[in-house]
Amino acid sequence: MIVCVSELLCFVSNDLLCCVYLCLNQLGPAYLGMELGVGETVLMKAVAQATGRQLDKIKAEAQEKGDLGLVAESSRSNQRMMFQPASLTAGGVFRKLKEIASMSGNSAMNKKIDIIKGLFVACRFSEARYIVRSLAGKLRIGLAEQSVLSALSQAVCLTPPGQGFPPAVIDAGKGMSAESRRAWIEEKISPLRHHNLFTPSNSLTTCLLPGVPLRPMLAHPTKGVGEVMKKFDEAAFTCEYKYDGERAQIHILESGEVRIFSRNQEDNTSKYPDIISRIPKVKKDSVVSCVLDSEAVAWDREKKQIQPFQVLTTRKRKDVDASEIKVQVCVYAFDLLYLNGESLVRQPLCRRRALLRESFSEVEGEFVFARSIDSDNTDTIAEFLEQSVRDSCEGLMVKTLEKDATYEIAKRSHNWLKLKKDYLEGVGDTVDLCVIGAYLGKGKRTGTYGGFLLACYDDENEEFQSVCKIGTGFKDEDLEQHYKFLKDHILPKPRAYYRFDQSAEPDVWLDAVQVWEVKCADLSLSPVYKAAMGMVDPEKGISLRFPRFLRIRDDKKPEDATTGAQVHHITCAGRKQNNV
Ligand code: ATP
Repeated sequence: MIVCVSELLCFVSNDLLCCVYLCLNQLGPAYLGMELGVGETVLMKAVAQATGRQLDKIKAEAQEKGDLGLVAESSRSNQRMMFQPASLTAGGVFRKLKEIASMSGNSAMNKKIDIIKGLFVACRFSEARYIVRSLAGKLRIGLAEQSVLSALSQAVCLTPPGQGFPPAVIDAGKGMSAESRRAWIEEKISPLRHHNLFTPSNSLTTCLLPGVPLRPMLAHPTKGVGEVMKKFDEAAFTCEYKYDGERAQIHILESGEVRIFSRNQEDNTSKYPDIISRIPKVKKDSVVSCVLDSEAVAWDREKKQIQPFQVLTTRKRKDVDASEIKVQVCVYAFDLLYLNGESLVRQPLCRRRALLRESFSEVEGEFVFARSIDSDNTDTIAEFLEQSVRDSCEGLMVKTLEKDATYEIAKRSHNWLKLKKDYLEGVGDTVDLCVIGAYLGKGKRTGTYGGFLLACYDDENEEFQSVCKIGTGFKDEDLEQHYKFLKDHILPKPRAYYRFDQSAEPDVWLDAVQVWEVKCADLSLSPVYKAAMGMVDPEKGISLRFPRFLRIRDDKKPEDATTGAQVHHITCAGRKQNNV
């Protein structure tokens, strides 16, 4: 797949960026938050009007097929045209989509429908299917962002940019053996991986800039201090508190402006006016511009202590007025990625941390460096882990300090290990799963749903694979809240991309729209559940045993749910731990 997209991108001259965004089903970088604002009903109306079919018929067929794109494609034969409009181009389609996104006001919906109709009548072959899916935000072409970036990097490497069109050099690696070609491409493209690709000006670039969010570095779960010691062996490492709040990437621009981005590069600046106002106080004069990585944690000013994550979720999300803030936050800074015009991501953590501490000063309850110890003594680490939990943290983040200690943008790296207290009891990590079905409640739970069918996401096949039924961990309020929310997402039948066994069919099928964090005691092979099917056993999938609901993960999209491969990985790790 990557090779196909790479070959496509080699031949794109002016519209490269449009093609990249079309593949990603995005209108621009995530932090700009550009939305089409086209609901399913509007889309159906446009398809009906463009094809002369009745809206009811389109609706019924879409429900049946579970894919309005396919309905649009098969409806095209009904169109009668005097002249065939000009063929669509990638750039043309992308500009129309952006035009749709920019429309607001009273007559916007009709104007949007007109543009969609215009696109639709110009479609040939299967174009209608993909245009409609793009408009619905469900492209489903099996391409995740990392694959698009790899394809792009390969295209740039093989067909160097700056040539005329058609390019004279299409394959700069021609004649090399397969192995040396792979190594050569890898060497050329690896620097690209460490950079940010999208800037506000919407051009492709590979630099790190304050004001442009980076995808954060992520950690691998580990099950105990013993595993940490084994993994890091001789390497110097540090253990930091793992605070339970919200990741906050704080950018200070040369202009003095401060912006804050979430784990998913959303712009959270207007959520945290309190953090912004305290930056001048904590920043040393030597800092002109920088990018900080930190966790914003709910803080009780009277008791001077950290509050649970749930308290933070009650805070308003946008356009917060500083004078009305009820939930206070303390920023726990743990990394510095950029300082005064220089990217620090290739520097080891010990250097980044020294610069962080030199560049800022702490203010209790407002801005504090993540608490840490640099020790390789098992007992000291175990005690620090206990202490972190007593101090209302989730456990520890263990990070290499010197060797292999660069900041790896967008990567779940083995140089960062998370060690949660919970891990010591159950399976390695909690998992984030999508709700795809519900079972009607009985007894005390009559009138709500009593249990739910959960699925992990398989990003290779773009499907949701059932992984367990869950009925534990819910407070009464949780069940009420789930019922209220999920009843609006009932489907007449399962999506074509749900994998499940008939013996575990729920009473109602639900659209995969919400992700839940779940803890389980164990994982086992199962003939009923389909997670990671084929990875451990050709016939059986993996299921979670004794799953317990922890919380809704609003910051994760269904496609960000734990993947089948990750479930498989957790299972293997568990087996090794138990010497199975
Ligand atoms: P992931 O982000 O790994 O997909 P997740 O969203 O479930 O998983 P966790 O597994 O809980 O998050 O752990 C990673 C998160 O922990 C980071 O994204 C960050 O927000 C938070 N965190 C808290 N303290 C630290 C720290 N000292 N260093 C790095 N991250 C920290």
